[in-house]
Amino acid sequence: MKKKKILNLFIGSNNQGKIKEIRDLLPKTVQILTPKHFNFKSPKETGQTFKENSFLKAKFFSKKTKMICLADDSGLEIDSLNKLPGIYSARWGGKKSNFNLAIKKVYKELKKNNINWYKTKKTARFVCALTIYWPNNKFINVIGVVEGSISKSKKGNKGFGYDPIFIPANKKITFGQMNQKEKYKIDHRMKAFNKIKKFF
Ligand code: IMP
Repeated sequence: MKKKKILNLFIGSNNQGKIKEIRDLLPKTVQILTPKHFNFKSPKETGQTFKENSFLKAKFFSKKTKMICLADDSGLEIDSLNKLPGIYSARWGGKKSNFNLAIKKVYKELKKNNINWYKTKKTARFVCALTIYWPNNKFINVIGVVEGSISKSKKGNKGFGYDPIFIPANKKITFGQMNQKEKYKIDHRMKAFNKIKKFF
């Protein structure tokens, strides 16, 4: 049986960087609404994993809007910081999600661990969990990962969040230095999206 393509979608996120990237991944024929259109706040992220948090956001907004909802939960895991900031990636930016503050905290924590932290490669990865939740309570939950390392300093002003400090594996520049097209080809969100693109 042929699957019915999703034509109207609620994106359950208040993060403009994410919304832009998801919008760019979706076919232009999909009509999109976001919490901003309704002045909705995002729910508390009480899950312990990216998957749990993307699921709770997608379900919350689908119940509220009675629409099919796509939600993303994503973040940066740094191995030498026991995978932090991880699910706390947005929270490291404080109440106003200030990414400069979050990046400062990453360097502070790395230094706290080892003053010479930059002498050895600090492996890290971006993880993205995506959930589509339908009003009939059907859902799909997928994960995408991009491996890489932490740059010795902040580089580039493209993208959002931790992009200026993340160097993807086999590349020499940060996501913040890459043009969008280049980033989208290899990043965690695109890898997760590839697993659900059949619905669009
Ligand atoms: P949340 O999923 O809304 O809890 O927030 C995820 C946080 O992870 C964002 O606010 C960013 O700080 C970070 N993040 C997730 N994906 C990316 C990305 O593609 N580039 C840079 N930072 C990201």
